Amino acid sequence: MIHPATELRFVNPVIGYGVFATAVIPTGTIVYVQDRLEHVIHPNDPIRQDPAYKAVIEKYSFRDEAGNYVVSWDFAKYVNHCCHANTLSTGYGFEIAVRDILPGEEITDEYALFGHEEMPLLCHYADCRQHLRGNDMQVYGRSWDTRVRQALQHLSQVSQPLFPYLDAQTYTDLMTYLSTGEGYRPLLADTWHAETV
Ligand SMILES: [Zn+2]
Repeated sequence: MIHPATELRFVNPVIGYGVFATAVIPTGTIVYVQDRLEHVIHPNDPIRQDPAYKAVIEKYSFRDEAGNYVVSWDFAKYVNHCCHANTLSTGYGFEIAVRDILPGEEITDEYALFGHEEMPLLCHYADCRQHLRGNDMQVYGRSWDTRVRQALQHLSQVSQPLFPYLDAQTYTDLMTYLSTGEGYRPLLADTWHAETV
């Protein structure tokens, strides 16, 4: 589920739709959470190879921590990539604002954290990476994780309309980490953490 202070807008014919903030969304706010209404497709589910569904799943899904393909039931699936994304995925099944997002600003994600295959990237920054690459996590994973940890420090100080959609265990783990500094869940731990520590 996407944060309620957002709306879907048509950007242009190349990019298609995007999701935009309708109010200030401060650093540390949960902007998206994988709630219980999401469509979760197991990697071995034959629907992934069904010609009628394959392209749709590839276009609109992201990979969760377990490797499943998740297709959002709401317009969260229209959040676009940016090489300077204002939200990042966490190991807690949600995306967090890593800086303050202003009204009218587009909500953006780092697609490398979604387990996407290699794909062309399009953002308006001069240092756009141009392509999503298989080793992005090895190159950038640590700095993304640092930004997530910094944003998590603000989590308890800002309004969290998506808190009711966190599962109980995730909420407990999160609060334990924030109060003790122990038990942090890194994002996509199996793909980069073991190789970089
Ligand atoms: Zn870019």
